[in-house]
Amino acid sequence: MTIDEACEELESAVGPENVSREPAVLDGYAWQAFTEVVGQTSGWCPDRPAAVVLPGNTEEVREVVRICGRHGLRFKAMCTGWGVWNMVSGDDVVQVDLRRMDRILDIDEKNMYAVVEPYVIGAQLQAEAMKRGLNCHIIGAGSGTSPLASATSLCGYGWSGLTTSYSARNLLATEWVLPDGELLRLGTLGSGCGWFSGDGPGPSLRGVARGYIGNCGGLGVFTACALKLFPWPGPPAPEVEGLLMDAAAEVPETSKLFICAFPSFEAFAEATYKIGNAEIGYLHCKNAVGAFLSTMTPRLMDKIVAHPALKAALRSQQHMFQFLIAASSPRESAYQEKVLRLIVRETGGLCLDLSSMPSLHASLWWGFVRASLPPLIFRRGGSFGTSFGALEAWDHPVLQARVAAELKQSFIDQGKLIDDLADNAWGGIYEGSTCFGHQEELYLYDPRDPDMMASATQYLAETFMATVGHNLGPGLGFALGSIGAELFGPIIGDYHHRLREVKQAFDPDDVSDAGFYISLDPVGTIREAIARSPEMAAFLAARMRELGMDDEETKG
Ligand SMILES: Cc1cc2nc3c(=O)[nH]c(=O)nc-3n(C[C@H](O)[C@H](O)[C@H](O)COP(=O)(O)OP(=O)(O)OC[C@H]3O[C@@H](n4cnc5c(N)ncnc54)[C@H](O)[C@@H]3O)c2cc1C
Repeated sequence: MTIDEACEELESAVGPENVSREPAVLDGYAWQAFTEVVGQTSGWCPDRPAAVVLPGNTEEVREVVRICGRHGLRFKAMCTGWGVWNMVSGDDVVQVDLRRMDRILDIDEKNMYAVVEPYVIGAQLQAEAMKRGLNCHIIGAGSGTSPLASATSLCGYGWSGLTTSYSARNLLATEWVLPDGELLRLGTLGSGCGWFSGDGPGPSLRGVARGYIGNCGGLGVFTACALKLFPWPGPPAPEVEGLLMDAAAEVPETSKLFICAFPSFEAFAEATYKIGNAEIGYLHCKNAVGAFLSTMTPRLMDKIVAHPALKAALRSQQHMFQFLIAASSPRESAYQEKVLRLIVRETGGLCLDLSSMPSLHASLWWGFVRASLPPLIFRRGGSFGTSFGALEAWDHPVLQARVAAELKQSFIDQGKLIDDLADNAWGGIYEGSTCFGHQEELYLYDPRDPDMMASATQYLAETFMATVGHNLGPGLGFALGSIGAELFGPIIGDYHHRLREVKQAFDPDDVSDAGFYISLDPVGTIREAIARSPEMAAFLAARMRELGMDDEETKG
Protein backbone atom coordinates (compact mmCIF):
# COMPACT_ATOMS: atom_id res chain seq x y z
CA MET A 1 0.00 0.00 0.00
CA THR A 2 1.57 3.29 -1.07
CA ILE A 3 0.81 6.96 -0.56
CA ASP A 4 0.11 7.16 -4.33
CA GLU A 5 -2.67 4.56 -4.05
CA ALA A 6 -4.00 6.27 -0.94
CA CYS A 7 -4.12 9.64 -2.68
CA GLU A 8 -5.93 8.15 -5.65
CA GLU A 9 -8.60 6.86 -3.28
CA LEU A 10 -8.67 10.17 -1.42
CA GLU A 11 -9.18 12.05 -4.69
CA SER A 12 -12.10 9.83 -5.65
CA ALA A 13 -13.57 10.33 -2.17
CA VAL A 14 -13.38 14.13 -1.95
CA GLY A 15 -12.48 15.27 -5.48
CA PRO A 16 -8.96 15.80 -6.89
CA GLU A 17 -9.11 19.57 -6.22
CA ASN A 18 -9.36 18.77 -2.49
CA VAL A 19 -6.21 16.67 -2.18
CA SER A 20 -2.64 17.96 -2.45
CA ARG A 21 0.90 16.66 -2.11
CA GLU A 22 2.43 19.82 -3.55
CA PRO A 23 5.65 20.41 -1.52
CA ALA A 24 4.95 24.16 -1.21
CA VAL A 25 1.42 23.42 -0.02
CA LEU A 26 2.69 20.83 2.46
CA ASP A 27 5.29 23.31 3.75
CA GLY A 28 2.42 25.73 4.34
CA TYR A 29 1.13 23.26 6.93
CA ALA A 30 4.58 22.68 8.45
CA TRP A 31 5.31 26.21 9.61
CA GLN A 32 3.71 27.11 12.93
CA ALA A 33 3.83 29.40 15.92
CA PHE A 34 4.90 27.95 19.31
CA THR A 35 7.34 25.36 17.92
CA GLU A 36 9.59 25.94 20.93
CA VAL A 37 7.03 23.71 22.68
CA VAL A 38 8.55 20.81 20.73
CA GLY A 39 12.12 22.06 21.08
CA GLN A 40 12.43 23.60 17.60
CA THR A 41 14.69 26.63 17.13
CA SER A 42 12.72 27.88 14.12
CA GLY A 43 9.09 28.04 13.10
CA TRP A 44 9.43 24.90 11.01
CA CYS A 45 7.79 21.80 12.49
CA PRO A 46 9.95 18.64 12.42
CA ASP A 47 7.71 16.89 9.85
CA ARG A 48 5.44 17.88 7.02
CA PRO A 49 2.24 16.03 6.13
CA ALA A 50 2.28 13.17 3.60
CA ALA A 51 -0.70 14.88 1.95
CA VAL A 52 -3.44 17.39 2.75
CA VAL A 53 -7.13 16.60 2.20
CA LEU A 54 -10.16 18.88 2.47
CA PRO A 55 -13.31 16.84 3.12
CA GLY A 56 -16.63 18.64 2.62
CA ASN A 57 -18.91 16.72 5.00
CA THR A 58 -19.06 14.04 7.68
CA GLU A 59 -19.34 11.13 5.25
CA GLU A 60 -16.22 12.32 3.40
CA VAL A 61 -14.36 12.61 6.72
CA ARG A 62 -15.33 9.01 7.52
CA GLU A 63 -14.08 7.87 4.11
CA VAL A 64 -10.79 9.77 4.53
CA VAL A 65 -10.21 8.16 7.93
CA ARG A 66 -10.97 4.69 6.55
CA ILE A 67 -8.64 5.19 3.57
CA CYS A 68 -5.82 6.23 5.90
CA GLY A 69 -6.43 3.15 8.03
CA ARG A 70 -6.38 0.85 5.00
CA HIS A 71 -3.07 2.31 3.76
CA GLY A 72 -1.23 2.31 7.08
CA LEU A 73 -1.31 6.11 7.19
CA ARG A 74 -2.23 8.29 10.14
CA PHE A 75 -4.40 11.43 10.04
CA LYS A 76 -4.52 14.74 11.90
CA ALA A 77 -7.55 17.02 11.86
CA MET A 78 -7.37 20.80 12.00
CA CYS A 79 -9.65 23.83 11.79
CA THR A 80 -7.93 27.22 11.37
CA GLY A 81 -4.69 25.49 12.34
CA TRP A 82 -3.22 28.29 14.37
CA GLY A 83 -0.54 26.78 16.47
CA VAL A 84 1.89 23.89 16.87
CA TRP A 85 -0.87 21.63 18.19
CA ASN A 86 -1.86 21.05 14.56
CA MET A 87 1.50 19.79 13.47
CA VAL A 88 1.79 16.24 12.21
CA SER A 89 4.13 14.07 14.25
CA GLY A 90 5.53 12.04 11.33
CA ASP A 91 5.76 12.04 7.52
CA ASP A 92 3.13 9.27 7.35
CA VAL A 93 0.33 11.59 8.46
CA VAL A 94 -2.43 13.02 6.23
CA GLN A 95 -3.50 16.50 7.40
CA VAL A 96 -7.31 16.70 7.37
CA ASP A 97 -8.06 20.39 6.85
CA LEU A 98 -11.74 21.03 7.66
CA ARG A 99 -12.05 24.47 6.09
CA ARG A 100 -14.81 23.38 3.70
CA MET A 101 -17.07 22.50 6.64
CA ASP A 102 -17.90 26.07 7.68
CA ARG A 103 -21.65 26.19 8.24
CA ILE A 104 -23.72 27.17 11.26
CA LEU A 105 -26.25 24.31 11.12
CA ASP A 106 -28.72 25.72 13.64
CA ILE A 107 -29.22 28.34 16.36
CA ASP A 108 -31.85 27.23 18.89
CA GLU A 109 -32.84 30.50 20.53
CA LYS A 110 -35.24 28.90 23.01
CA ASN A 111 -32.71 26.41 24.37
CA MET A 112 -29.76 28.77 23.78
CA TYR A 113 -27.34 26.67 21.78
CA ALA A 114 -25.84 26.67 18.32
CA VAL A 115 -24.87 23.69 16.17
CA VAL A 116 -21.70 24.35 14.19
CA GLU A 117 -19.33 22.68 11.76
CA PRO A 118 -15.55 22.76 12.41
CA TYR A 119 -14.59 25.81 10.35
CA VAL A 120 -17.20 28.19 11.73
CA ILE A 121 -15.12 30.91 13.41
CA GLY A 122 -15.93 32.86 16.55
CA ALA A 123 -16.71 36.13 14.75
CA GLN A 124 -19.18 34.41 12.42
CA LEU A 125 -21.01 32.65 15.24
CA GLN A 126 -21.05 35.68 17.55
CA ALA A 127 -22.47 37.93 14.82
CA GLU A 128 -25.33 35.49 14.16
CA ALA A 129 -25.97 34.89 17.86
CA MET A 130 -26.02 38.62 18.70
CA LYS A 131 -28.77 39.19 16.14
CA ARG A 132 -30.87 36.94 18.39
CA GLY A 133 -29.83 38.55 21.71
CA LEU A 134 -27.35 35.74 22.35
CA ASN A 135 -23.59 35.41 22.59
CA CYS A 136 -20.95 32.69 22.32
CA HIS A 137 -17.64 32.06 24.04
CA ILE A 138 -14.58 33.19 22.05
CA ILE A 139 -11.15 32.00 23.19
CA GLY A 140 -8.24 34.36 23.82
CA ALA A 141 -6.76 33.32 20.48
CA GLY A 142 -9.36 35.57 18.98
CA SER A 143 -12.49 35.49 16.88
CA GLY A 144 -10.64 34.08 13.88
CA THR A 145 -10.45 30.66 15.50
CA SER A 146 -12.88 27.76 15.67
CA PRO A 147 -15.25 27.35 18.63
CA LEU A 148 -15.66 23.67 17.71
CA ALA A 149 -11.89 23.04 17.81
CA SER A 150 -11.71 24.74 21.18
CA ALA A 151 -14.74 23.02 22.71
CA THR A 152 -13.84 19.55 21.45
CA SER A 153 -10.07 19.45 21.24
CA LEU A 154 -7.90 22.14 22.84
CA CYS A 155 -8.05 24.23 25.98
CA GLY A 156 -10.71 26.96 25.97
CA TYR A 157 -9.70 30.04 27.99
CA GLY A 158 -11.27 33.29 26.91
CA TRP A 159 -11.58 36.97 27.81
CA SER A 160 -15.28 36.79 28.71
CA GLY A 161 -15.04 33.57 30.76
CA LEU A 162 -16.75 35.38 33.65
CA THR A 163 -19.95 35.18 31.54
CA THR A 164 -19.29 32.61 28.79
CA SER A 165 -17.27 30.05 30.79
CA TYR A 166 -14.51 27.73 29.50
CA SER A 167 -14.95 25.99 26.13
CA ALA A 168 -14.95 22.42 27.50
CA ARG A 169 -17.93 23.31 29.71
CA ASN A 170 -19.93 24.66 26.74
CA LEU A 171 -19.85 21.45 24.73
CA LEU A 172 -23.26 19.81 24.24
CA ALA A 173 -24.14 17.01 21.79
CA THR A 174 -21.33 16.15 19.40
CA GLU A 175 -20.75 14.25 16.17
CA TRP A 176 -17.49 12.28 16.38
CA VAL A 177 -15.75 10.22 13.67
CA LEU A 178 -13.73 7.62 15.52
CA PRO A 179 -10.27 6.51 14.35
CA ASP A 180 -11.80 3.48 12.55
CA GLY A 181 -14.32 5.65 10.68
CA GLU A 182 -17.32 4.74 12.83
CA LEU A 183 -19.63 7.71 13.52
CA LEU A 184 -20.51 8.33 17.19
CA ARG A 185 -23.23 10.77 18.17
CA LEU A 186 -22.60 11.90 21.76
CA GLY A 187 -25.39 12.89 24.16
CA THR A 188 -29.04 13.45 23.25
CA LEU A 189 -28.09 13.33 19.55
CA GLY A 190 -27.25 9.65 19.96
CA SER A 191 -30.81 8.98 21.12
CA GLY A 192 -32.35 11.04 18.31
CA CYS A 193 -33.42 13.75 20.80
CA GLY A 194 -31.61 16.69 19.24
CA TRP A 195 -28.46 18.51 20.36
CA PHE A 196 -29.35 20.07 23.72
CA SER A 197 -27.25 17.83 25.99
CA GLY A 198 -23.79 16.26 25.72
CA ASP A 199 -24.51 13.58 28.30
CA GLY A 200 -27.65 11.68 29.34
CA PRO A 201 -29.85 9.89 29.29
CA GLY A 202 -27.45 7.22 30.65
CA PRO A 203 -23.67 6.90 30.51
CA SER A 204 -21.80 9.60 28.57
CA LEU A 205 -18.50 9.58 26.71
CA ARG A 206 -18.09 13.37 26.86
CA GLY A 207 -15.34 12.97 29.45
CA VAL A 208 -13.50 10.57 27.11
CA ALA A 209 -13.94 12.87 24.11
CA ARG A 210 -12.17 15.56 26.08
CA GLY A 211 -11.14 16.47 29.63
CA TYR A 212 -9.46 19.70 30.77
CA ILE A 213 -7.02 20.28 27.91
CA GLY A 214 -8.44 18.15 25.05
CA ASN A 215 -6.83 15.48 22.91
CA CYS A 216 -5.57 17.77 20.14
CA GLY A 217 -6.74 15.58 17.27
CA GLY A 218 -5.44 12.38 18.88
CA LEU A 219 -8.71 10.44 18.97
CA GLY A 220 -10.56 10.94 15.70
CA VAL A 221 -12.34 13.90 14.10
CA PHE A 222 -15.21 15.98 15.49
CA THR A 223 -17.43 16.96 12.56
CA ALA A 224 -20.18 18.97 14.29
CA CYS A 225 -21.16 19.98 17.81
CA ALA A 226 -23.68 22.02 19.78
CA LEU A 227 -22.33 24.86 21.91
CA LYS A 228 -24.02 26.68 24.77
CA LEU A 229 -24.99 30.28 24.02
CA PHE A 230 -25.38 33.06 26.60
CA PRO A 231 -27.61 36.14 26.94
CA TRP A 232 -26.25 39.22 25.13
CA PRO A 233 -27.75 42.43 26.55
CA GLY A 234 -26.02 44.60 23.92
CA PRO A 235 -27.06 45.73 20.41
CA PRO A 236 -28.02 42.96 17.92
CA ALA A 237 -25.59 44.35 15.32
CA PRO A 238 -23.01 46.63 16.98
CA GLU A 239 -22.08 49.61 14.80
CA VAL A 240 -18.34 49.37 14.19
CA GLU A 241 -16.07 51.34 11.84
CA GLY A 242 -12.42 50.58 11.15
CA LEU A 243 -10.17 47.66 11.98
CA LEU A 244 -8.22 46.51 15.04
CA MET A 245 -6.27 49.54 16.30
CA ASP A 246 -8.63 52.15 14.89
CA ALA A 247 -11.89 50.30 15.36
CA ALA A 248 -14.56 52.72 16.53
CA ALA A 249 -17.66 51.11 17.92
CA GLU A 250 -20.81 52.70 19.22
CA VAL A 251 -20.63 51.66 22.86
CA PRO A 252 -24.14 51.24 24.34
CA GLU A 253 -24.81 53.37 27.45
CA THR A 254 -25.39 50.17 29.45
CA SER A 255 -21.81 49.03 28.86
CA LYS A 256 -18.51 50.36 30.25
CA LEU A 257 -14.89 49.25 30.39
CA PHE A 258 -12.69 49.86 33.43
CA ILE A 259 -9.06 49.24 34.33
CA CYS A 260 -8.70 48.41 38.03
CA ALA A 261 -5.24 48.42 39.61
CA PHE A 262 -4.20 47.25 43.07
CA PRO A 263 -1.18 47.68 45.37
CA SER A 264 -0.42 43.96 45.72
CA PHE A 265 -1.14 40.40 44.57
CA GLU A 266 -3.24 39.99 47.73
CA ALA A 267 -5.43 43.05 47.05
CA PHE A 268 -5.77 41.98 43.39
CA ALA A 269 -6.92 38.55 44.54
CA GLU A 270 -9.24 39.91 47.25
CA ALA A 271 -10.98 42.29 44.84
CA THR A 272 -11.62 39.40 42.49
CA TYR A 273 -13.15 37.28 45.25
CA LYS A 274 -15.48 40.18 46.10
CA ILE A 275 -16.44 40.56 42.41
CA GLY A 276 -17.21 36.84 42.20
CA ASN A 277 -19.38 37.04 45.30
CA ALA A 278 -21.12 40.19 44.06
CA GLU A 279 -22.01 38.48 40.75
CA ILE A 280 -21.38 41.57 38.68
CA GLY A 281 -19.72 42.12 35.32
CA TYR A 282 -19.53 40.67 31.82
CA LEU A 283 -15.72 40.36 31.61
CA HIS A 284 -12.94 40.16 34.22
CA CYS A 285 -9.54 39.64 32.64
CA LYS A 286 -5.97 40.67 33.33
CA ASN A 287 -4.06 41.98 30.35
CA ALA A 288 -0.80 43.20 31.88
CA VAL A 289 0.74 46.63 31.29
CA GLY A 290 3.60 44.92 29.44
CA ALA A 291 1.14 43.15 27.13
CA PHE A 292 -0.86 46.31 26.45
CA LEU A 293 2.17 48.37 25.45
CA SER A 294 3.86 45.49 23.59
CA THR A 295 0.77 45.00 21.45
CA MET A 296 -0.39 48.62 21.04
CA THR A 297 2.99 50.45 20.88
CA PRO A 298 5.78 47.85 20.48
CA ARG A 299 8.43 50.31 19.33
CA LEU A 300 7.67 52.67 22.22
CA MET A 301 7.88 49.71 24.61
CA ASP A 302 11.35 48.87 23.26
CA LYS A 303 12.40 52.40 24.30
CA ILE A 304 10.58 52.45 27.65
CA VAL A 305 12.28 49.31 28.96
CA ALA A 306 15.64 51.05 28.54
CA HIS A 307 14.63 53.58 31.26
CA PRO A 308 14.48 52.13 34.82
CA ALA A 309 12.38 55.06 36.11
CA LEU A 310 9.73 54.59 33.43
CA LYS A 311 9.74 50.85 34.02
CA ALA A 312 9.24 51.42 37.74
CA ALA A 313 6.33 53.74 37.02
CA LEU A 314 4.69 51.13 34.81
CA ARG A 315 5.39 48.37 37.29
CA SER A 316 3.32 50.23 39.89
CA GLN A 317 0.35 49.13 37.74
CA GLN A 318 1.43 45.46 37.82
CA HIS A 319 -1.62 44.15 39.69
CA MET A 320 -4.47 45.13 37.39
CA PHE A 321 -7.39 43.67 35.49
CA GLN A 322 -9.86 44.99 32.94
CA PHE A 323 -13.51 44.82 33.86
CA LEU A 324 -16.37 45.21 31.40
CA ILE A 325 -19.98 45.84 32.38
CA ALA A 326 -22.61 44.86 29.81
CA ALA A 327 -25.96 45.38 31.50
CA SER A 328 -29.58 45.12 30.37
CA SER A 329 -30.54 48.59 31.59
CA PRO A 330 -28.89 51.87 32.63
CA ARG A 331 -30.08 51.20 36.19
CA GLU A 332 -28.41 47.77 36.27
CA SER A 333 -25.24 49.24 34.75
CA ALA A 334 -25.15 51.99 37.40
CA TYR A 335 -25.67 49.39 40.13
CA GLN A 336 -22.80 47.23 38.87
CA GLU A 337 -20.51 50.26 38.58
CA LYS A 338 -21.35 51.32 42.14
CA VAL A 339 -20.53 47.84 43.48
CA LEU A 340 -17.29 47.70 41.48
CA ARG A 341 -16.14 51.10 42.79
CA LEU A 342 -16.96 50.02 46.36
CA ILE A 343 -14.94 46.80 45.98
CA VAL A 344 -11.97 48.64 44.50
CA ARG A 345 -12.08 51.20 47.31
CA GLU A 346 -12.30 48.46 49.97
CA THR A 347 -9.22 46.74 48.54
CA GLY A 348 -7.14 49.92 48.20
CA GLY A 349 -7.23 49.98 44.42
CA LEU A 350 -7.73 52.49 41.62
CA CYS A 351 -10.60 52.34 39.14
CA LEU A 352 -10.03 53.99 35.77
CA ASP A 353 -13.24 54.52 33.78
CA LEU A 354 -12.14 54.25 30.14
CA SER A 355 -15.34 55.87 28.91
CA SER A 356 -13.68 59.14 29.90
CA MET A 357 -11.41 58.51 26.86
CA PRO A 358 -14.10 57.88 24.18
CA SER A 359 -11.94 56.81 21.21
CA LEU A 360 -9.79 54.44 23.29
CA HIS A 361 -12.98 53.18 24.97
CA ALA A 362 -14.71 52.59 21.63
CA SER A 363 -11.83 50.62 20.13
CA LEU A 364 -11.06 48.57 23.25
CA TRP A 365 -14.74 47.87 23.95
CA TRP A 366 -15.08 46.22 20.55
CA GLY A 367 -11.67 44.58 20.81
CA PHE A 368 -12.78 42.92 24.07
CA VAL A 369 -16.32 42.01 22.99
CA ARG A 370 -15.28 40.53 19.63
CA ALA A 371 -11.85 39.34 20.92
CA SER A 372 -10.26 40.84 17.82
CA LEU A 373 -7.01 42.05 19.45
CA PRO A 374 -5.05 38.82 20.18
CA PRO A 375 -3.08 38.65 16.90
CA LEU A 376 -1.40 41.92 17.97
CA ILE A 377 0.63 39.93 20.48
CA PHE A 378 3.02 38.96 17.66
CA ARG A 379 3.97 42.64 17.04
CA ARG A 380 6.67 43.14 19.65
CA GLY A 381 9.15 40.32 18.97
CA GLY A 382 7.57 38.25 16.23
CA SER A 383 6.25 35.53 18.49
CA PHE A 384 5.13 34.69 21.98
CA GLY A 385 4.39 31.69 24.12
CA THR A 386 2.36 30.91 27.17
CA SER A 387 2.91 28.93 30.34
CA PHE A 388 1.47 27.89 33.75
CA GLY A 389 -2.26 28.72 33.52
CA ALA A 390 -3.91 26.06 35.70
CA LEU A 391 -7.71 26.38 36.09
CA GLU A 392 -8.04 26.47 39.90
CA ALA A 393 -9.54 28.39 42.82
CA TRP A 394 -8.41 32.01 42.39
CA ASP A 395 -5.61 32.17 44.97
CA HIS A 396 -3.85 29.39 43.06
CA PRO A 397 -3.62 31.22 39.71
CA VAL A 398 -2.53 34.34 41.59
CA LEU A 399 0.27 32.30 43.21
CA GLN A 400 1.16 30.97 39.73
CA ALA A 401 1.39 34.54 38.43
CA ARG A 402 3.77 35.44 41.26
CA VAL A 403 6.02 32.37 40.64
CA ALA A 404 5.95 32.99 36.89
CA ALA A 405 6.90 36.68 37.15
CA GLU A 406 9.97 35.81 39.26
CA LEU A 407 11.08 33.11 36.82
CA LYS A 408 10.48 35.34 33.77
CA GLN A 409 12.48 38.18 35.37
CA SER A 410 15.53 35.91 35.64
CA PHE A 411 15.33 35.15 31.89
CA ILE A 412 14.78 38.81 30.97
CA ASP A 413 17.75 39.86 33.13
CA GLN A 414 19.92 37.50 31.06
CA GLY A 415 18.53 38.92 27.81
CA LYS A 416 17.07 35.52 26.98
CA LEU A 417 13.48 36.76 26.60
CA ILE A 418 12.06 40.12 25.51
CA ASP A 419 11.47 42.55 28.38
CA ASP A 420 7.71 42.77 28.89
CA LEU A 421 8.08 43.89 32.53
CA ALA A 422 8.14 40.18 33.54
CA ASP A 423 4.64 39.97 35.08
CA ASN A 424 2.73 39.39 31.83
CA ALA A 425 -0.04 37.25 33.27
CA TRP A 426 -3.26 36.91 31.29
CA GLY A 427 -6.63 35.60 32.42
CA GLY A 428 -9.47 35.90 34.92
CA ILE A 429 -12.30 34.06 36.65
CA TYR A 430 -14.95 31.88 35.03
CA GLU A 431 -18.72 31.59 35.34
CA GLY A 432 -18.92 34.41 37.88
CA SER A 433 -17.25 32.15 40.42
CA THR A 434 -13.85 32.35 42.07
CA CYS A 435 -13.93 28.59 42.36
CA PHE A 436 -12.00 28.61 39.13
CA GLY A 437 -9.91 31.10 37.32
CA HIS A 438 -6.63 31.15 35.51
CA GLN A 439 -3.51 33.21 35.05
CA GLU A 440 -1.24 32.12 32.23
CA GLU A 441 2.17 33.76 31.85
CA LEU A 442 2.89 35.07 28.37
CA TYR A 443 6.50 35.40 27.22
CA LEU A 444 7.77 37.25 24.15
CA TYR A 445 10.64 36.30 21.85
CA ASP A 446 12.02 36.70 18.35
CA PRO A 447 11.49 33.48 16.35
CA ARG A 448 14.19 34.57 13.87
CA ASP A 449 16.77 34.31 16.67
CA PRO A 450 17.62 30.61 17.27
CA ASP A 451 19.24 31.46 20.64
CA MET A 452 16.08 33.12 21.81
CA MET A 453 14.03 30.15 20.56
CA ALA A 454 16.33 27.85 22.57
CA SER A 455 15.87 30.13 25.60
CA ALA A 456 12.10 29.92 25.13
CA THR A 457 12.38 26.11 25.24
CA GLN A 458 14.56 26.34 28.36
CA TYR A 459 12.09 28.75 29.96
CA LEU A 460 9.28 26.23 29.32
CA ALA A 461 11.35 23.46 30.90
CA GLU A 462 11.87 25.65 33.95
CA THR A 463 8.13 26.37 34.17
CA PHE A 464 7.45 22.63 34.46
CA MET A 465 9.90 22.31 37.29
CA ALA A 466 8.55 25.41 39.01
CA THR A 467 5.12 23.83 38.63
CA VAL A 468 6.29 20.68 40.36
CA GLY A 469 8.48 22.55 42.86
CA HIS A 470 5.58 24.79 43.99
CA ASN A 471 3.02 22.01 43.72
CA LEU A 472 1.03 23.98 41.15
CA GLY A 473 -1.48 22.56 38.67
CA PRO A 474 0.24 21.90 35.31
CA GLY A 475 -2.37 23.94 33.42
CA LEU A 476 -1.11 24.64 29.88
CA GLY A 477 1.82 22.36 30.61
CA PHE A 478 -0.63 19.59 29.69
CA ALA A 479 -0.61 20.88 26.10
CA LEU A 480 3.09 20.41 25.44
CA GLY A 481 2.73 17.15 23.58
CA SER A 482 2.35 13.49 24.48
CA ILE A 483 5.57 13.76 26.51
CA GLY A 484 3.54 15.87 28.93
CA ALA A 485 1.55 12.88 30.14
CA GLU A 486 4.77 10.94 30.78
CA LEU A 487 6.09 13.85 32.84
CA PHE A 488 3.05 14.77 34.87
CA GLY A 489 1.25 11.40 34.95
CA PRO A 490 3.40 9.91 37.73
CA ILE A 491 2.67 12.86 40.03
CA ILE A 492 -1.02 13.23 39.20
CA GLY A 493 -2.62 9.92 40.02
CA ASP A 494 -0.94 8.08 37.12
CA TYR A 495 -3.52 9.58 34.75
CA HIS A 496 -1.19 8.72 31.84
CA HIS A 497 -2.01 5.02 32.36
CA ARG A 498 -5.75 5.76 32.14
CA LEU A 499 -5.27 7.94 29.09
CA ARG A 500 -3.30 5.19 27.37
CA GLU A 501 -6.08 2.70 28.11
CA VAL A 502 -8.58 5.05 26.44
CA LYS A 503 -6.34 5.47 23.39
CA GLN A 504 -5.73 1.72 23.24
CA ALA A 505 -9.48 1.06 23.37
CA PHE A 506 -10.54 3.67 20.79
CA ASP A 507 -7.51 3.55 18.48
CA PRO A 508 -5.51 0.33 18.94
CA ASP A 509 -3.80 0.86 15.55
CA ASP A 510 -2.78 4.42 16.56
CA VAL A 511 -4.20 5.88 13.30
CA SER A 512 -5.22 9.25 14.79
CA ASP A 513 -2.00 11.27 15.24
CA ALA A 514 -1.66 11.59 19.01
CA GLY A 515 1.48 13.73 19.06
CA PHE A 516 -0.23 16.10 21.49
CA TYR A 517 -2.29 13.49 23.33
CA ILE A 518 -0.87 10.19 24.60
CA SER A 519 1.62 7.78 23.12
CA LEU A 520 1.16 4.03 22.85
CA ASP A 521 4.99 3.82 22.93
CA PRO A 522 6.01 5.90 26.00
CA VAL A 523 9.68 4.91 25.95
CA GLY A 524 9.86 5.80 22.25
CA THR A 525 8.15 9.13 22.95
CA ILE A 526 10.60 9.99 25.72
CA ARG A 527 13.56 8.98 23.58
CA GLU A 528 12.20 11.18 20.80
CA ALA A 529 11.71 14.13 23.19
CA ILE A 530 15.25 13.67 24.45
CA ALA A 531 16.59 13.55 20.88
CA ARG A 532 14.57 16.61 19.87
CA SER A 533 15.56 18.77 22.81
CA PRO A 534 18.54 17.29 24.63
CA GLU A 535 19.00 20.28 26.93
CA MET A 536 15.35 20.23 27.96
CA ALA A 537 15.48 16.48 28.39
CA ALA A 538 18.69 16.52 30.39
CA PHE A 539 17.30 19.25 32.56
CA LEU A 540 14.00 17.44 33.04
CA ALA A 541 15.57 14.06 33.71
CA ALA A 542 17.88 15.51 36.36
CA ARG A 543 15.10 17.30 38.13
CA MET A 544 12.77 14.31 37.78
CA ARG A 545 15.32 12.17 39.56
CA GLU A 546 15.83 14.87 42.19
CA LEU A 547 12.10 14.78 42.84
CA GLY A 548 11.84 11.00 42.66
CA MET A 549 9.38 11.41 39.78
CA ASP A 550 10.76 8.76 37.52
CA ASP A 551 8.28 5.99 36.80
CA GLU A 552 8.95 2.22 36.39
CA GLU A 553 7.73 2.43 32.79
CA THR A 554 10.16 5.21 31.92
CA LYS A 555 13.06 4.53 34.33
CA GLY A 556 15.21 3.73 31.20
C1 LIG B 1 -2.42 34.65 19.91
C2 LIG B 1 -2.92 33.35 20.47
C3 LIG B 1 -3.61 33.37 21.67
C4 LIG B 1 -4.15 32.18 22.16
N1 LIG B 1 -4.90 32.25 23.27
C5 LIG B 1 -5.60 31.17 23.63
C6 LIG B 1 -6.54 31.27 24.68
O1 LIG B 1 -6.70 32.31 25.30
N2 LIG B 1 -7.31 30.19 24.97
C7 LIG B 1 -7.14 29.00 24.32
O2 LIG B 1 -7.86 28.07 24.61
N3 LIG B 1 -6.22 28.86 23.33
C8 LIG B 1 -5.46 29.92 22.99
N4 LIG B 1 -4.56 29.82 21.98
C9 LIG B 1 -4.29 28.50 21.44
C10 LIG B 1 -5.35 28.18 20.40
O3 LIG B 1 -6.28 27.39 20.97
C11 LIG B 1 -4.77 27.48 19.36
O4 LIG B 1 -3.83 28.31 18.78
C12 LIG B 1 -5.72 26.99 18.31
O5 LIG B 1 -4.88 26.38 17.45
C13 LIG B 1 -6.54 28.00 17.65
O6 LIG B 1 -7.04 27.62 16.38
P1 LIG B 1 -8.35 26.82 16.14
O7 LIG B 1 -9.27 27.12 17.27
O8 LIG B 1 -8.82 27.02 14.82
O9 LIG B 1 -7.94 25.32 16.32
P2 LIG B 1 -6.97 24.45 15.44
O10 LIG B 1 -5.67 25.11 15.45
O11 LIG B 1 -7.50 24.11 14.11
O12 LIG B 1 -6.94 23.09 16.29
C14 LIG B 1 -6.54 23.07 17.61
C15 LIG B 1 -6.27 21.61 18.02
O13 LIG B 1 -7.46 20.86 17.91
C16 LIG B 1 -7.34 19.78 16.96
N5 LIG B 1 -8.57 19.80 16.16
C17 LIG B 1 -9.07 20.86 15.51
N6 LIG B 1 -10.24 20.54 14.93
C18 LIG B 1 -10.48 19.24 15.23
C19 LIG B 1 -11.55 18.34 14.91
N7 LIG B 1 -12.59 18.73 14.20
N8 LIG B 1 -11.46 17.07 15.37
C20 LIG B 1 -10.40 16.67 16.12
N9 LIG B 1 -9.36 17.48 16.44
C21 LIG B 1 -9.41 18.75 16.01
C22 LIG B 1 -6.13 20.13 16.13
O14 LIG B 1 -5.49 18.96 15.68
C23 LIG B 1 -5.26 20.89 17.14
O15 LIG B 1 -4.55 19.98 17.94
C24 LIG B 1 -3.95 30.97 21.48
C25 LIG B 1 -3.24 30.94 20.29
C26 LIG B 1 -2.73 32.11 19.78
C27 LIG B 1 -2.00 32.05 18.50
